[in-house]
Amino acid sequence: MSESIHYKLRLRDGIAYLNGRPAICCYCGVCIATTIDHCPPIGMFVNRKRPKGLEVPACRSCNRSMSRHDFIASIMARTYTPHLIQNDHELQQSINTLCTRYLPYAVEMLPGYIEHVKRNSRADLPKDIAAYLRCDGPLVASSLYLFAARMGAALQFSYTREPIPKSGSVCSIWFTSSQLIDDKIPEYILDLLQSPSSLKQGTWHVDEQFKYKVWQDNNTLPMICIAAFGVTFMTLAICSDEPAPDLSKSAMQAYSPELIARPKEWPSVQHLPDSTGGTQQCR
Ligand SMILES: [Zn+2]
Repeated sequence: MSESIHYKLRLRDGIAYLNGRPAICCYCGVCIATTIDHCPPIGMFVNRKRPKGLEVPACRSCNRSMSRHDFIASIMARTYTPHLIQNDHELQQSINTLCTRYLPYAVEMLPGYIEHVKRNSRADLPKDIAAYLRCDGPLVASSLYLFAARMGAALQFSYTREPIPKSGSVCSIWFTSSQLIDDKIPEYILDLLQSPSSLKQGTWHVDEQFKYKVWQDNNTLPMICIAAFGVTFMTLAICSDEPAPDLSKSAMQAYSPELIARPKEWPSVQHLPDSTGGTQQCR
């Protein structure tokens, strides 16, 4: 177990301080951080209830530029939380926002629901909303690649306390649980997610909604950062201090997301005794 993700990050007078010193944005690696970004975002969690942990410094520009991709990833993650869907007014609100503010995404992700809304005067969230969800469109795919890279940059920061160097890179990919069901995720990638961690505050945890694992050696790059969301999708990012390889020749492009996600459990979190009430990382 490593305690390396514990650090003090505070916002004071519009500046984010890391262990008492002004922090650099973990995404652009250039600007002084003026916000504290939650990774994953609060909106990813049912009723916006998220334990503390995995907070990173970000400049306002980077933080804002992530918001759309965070929102799309949140819809993806939460639509497949079966026991929480009924009366989930917050999810209903999110899908209403998707349909109004991000209509091109809604048309890609929920074409059946859009038709349902057109046919019915009432637009209540159907209980089988998950059956409508698709992720094969170019807009949502692009958002999830960026979201996967953002998760990677933030997770690596939580270990190194440093942004990825300007000469470095993040290569990202994402998989749906549909690929898990169809045995289309390589075994060696699933092995990387064995014994994951989650966010935990005292006895309260969110294993069902978020799991992650960081593979690193002595808090140095390269790092492999993996995260799984609900029973819907997982992201993988390789953070390196080297320039990005030519992905057109890489195996990372050989596994493209499937047409429709289906719910499936990822490996389980193994909780360790936690005397601090904070987040833990199993190694
Ligand atoms: Zn930035």
